[in-house]
Amino acid sequence: MKKVLITGAAGFLGSHLCDRFIKEGYYVIGMDNYITGDKKNLLHLENNPNFAFVEHDVTKFVKIDGNLDYILHFASPASPIDYLKIPIQTLKVGSLGTHNLLGLAKAKKARILIASTSEVYGDPLVHPQTEDYYGNVNTIGPRGVYDEAKRFQESITMAYHRFHGLETRIVRIFNTYGPRMRLNDGRVIPAFMGQALRGEDLTIFGDGSQTRSFCYVDDQIEGIYRLLLSDYSYPVNIGNPHEISIKDFAEEIIKLTGTNQKIVYKKLPIDDPLQRQPDISLAKKLLNWQPTVEREQGMKITFDYFKSLTADELYRSEHKDFTNHIKK
Ligand code: NAD
Ligand code: UDP
Repeated sequence: MKKVLITGAAGFLGSHLCDRFIKEGYYVIGMDNYITGDKKNLLHLENNPNFAFVEHDVTKFVKIDGNLDYILHFASPASPIDYLKIPIQTLKVGSLGTHNLLGLAKAKKARILIASTSEVYGDPLVHPQTEDYYGNVNTIGPRGVYDEAKRFQESITMAYHRFHGLETRIVRIFNTYGPRMRLNDGRVIPAFMGQALRGEDLTIFGDGSQTRSFCYVDDQIEGIYRLLLSDYSYPVNIGNPHEISIKDFAEEIIKLTGTNQKIVYKKLPIDDPLQRQPDISLAKKLLNWQPTVEREQGMKITFDYFKSLTADELYRSEHKDFTNHIKK
């Protein structure tokens, strides 16, 4: 039985990855310190004999007994609101955390896939974004903590590949959504859906002309799985190229949720990218992969998930309190 370590396992993507690898017949070790994750995302695996969970901060030395075949490094805050609130932890998990996991991969002769992001392109001047675009990132802006941690993560991963001959994979993930996103993580889909469910106005940042391209989680996981099993060591974009402005998206959410609330406009956060759309030609060619879930279908599944949350979860203070983690 092949063994895989998944960091960030209690998070949105990490928990879906655990499910996928278990389904494929792997023994899965999930690791997380719960800073932005939720125990609830893994409850269904609690008694699964092919799953083990280790509560650990990956910025500290990572110890795993026995062999490992694959490592998927997904630990990192991923929502702008999260990483603005915990900037140092964000930098550390992308740098020190990645270094620890690359060291572990080397020691175990395991293949490692790291979760990079469309944010390495910053506020892009090339559209759609192809993997050979170097990006337009403000190193010292508030988002720089995430973007630069991820860029460093890519660099150190390539250094381990070139210098140590480590088998590495880099996925550049574009906005992905689905069940198990945290309702209060501040990202646009949970934000709009939470507002609709609570009977609040939908908050658009800026004039809503900025664009995003939303990928349903099952498509994303399929792309990541195929990339891990491929023999390609350079970054690959995985996302859905179907681009939409945030204003049009808010209208779609109003229709889907049937809310009577209106749209209100707030200030656009600093360095908020104005356009984002993945060029997925490489993933199509290399992995024979492309998204299959239409936005309408994926949003309906996601809204059904948010509707199933308890009133306590729905009205829990808007953003996560990181105080305990910061003290540790
Ligand atoms: P998430 O916040 O739901 O999950 C991240 C998980 O990592 C959480 O469970 C958190 O507790 C854990 N974590 C953070 N720091 C840790 C540490 N030091 N030690 C151990 N665990 C730690 O976010 P997500 O959307 O699931 O994102 C997962 C990964 O995918 C991240 O690396 C993110 O940068 C990347 N990504 C996600 C998206 C997206 O649209 N969802 C887009 C681009 C990149
Ligand atoms: N956004 C918004 N209202 C919200 C939350 C987000 O208009 O309540 C905008 C945000 O400014 C950005 C886009 O929606 O332009 C996507 O934001 P998100 O936080 O989901 O992720 P990003 O793609 O910026 O990392």
